[in-house]
Amino acid sequence: MRLCKNWYKSLEVVKPKLNITRQVYEFIVRTTKDSPRVETGGILMGRDIKPLTVDVTHASLPGPKAYHSSTKFLRDTEYCSKVLQEHYEKYGVDYVGEWHSHIVPLRGVSGGDIATLTSIIYDPDYNFNAFACIVALLENDKVELIGYIATKRYIYQVEIRVVDSDMLI
Ligand SMILES: [Zn+2]
Repeated sequence: MRLCKNWYKSLEVVKPKLNITRQVYEFIVRTTKDSPRVETGGILMGRDIKPLTVDVTHASLPGPKAYHSSTKFLRDTEYCSKVLQEHYEKYGVDYVGEWHSHIVPLRGVSGGDIATLTSIIYDPDYNFNAFACIVALLENDKVELIGYIATKRYIYQVEIRVVDSDMLI
């Protein structure tokens, strides 16, 4: 064994985690099913807990001015900011991620999705530690949620844990 210098701090094992409440899970599934021909989505709100855990307690709709097509979605920023402000005042939650649906069989993030995530995570106005992304894949009237945690270095594909809301307070 190499000489062990005991002033080293021990390394910590970190696994990125994405927890969402059952209500958020059901909301995303329902909103995705309600829009079978075009993509939809919104923002995710909750808490970003260091080092790499995101708890999602609320999710938004796209907003009336959102852009929807079968392969592209752009949320209504003004609407989502308003929803975030309301949730922040009411529940003390923050903007911690984005969600959108895929109605074509694309399992996971596209090149465009990665570019969007990169621009958000590097946005100096936010300075995110970890940022969540959920892709809701609609296939044969079934919705599967695929989760990611983005940092300034990596986008981790993670398992989404669906929990009761009182576990995230
Ligand atoms: Zn996408």
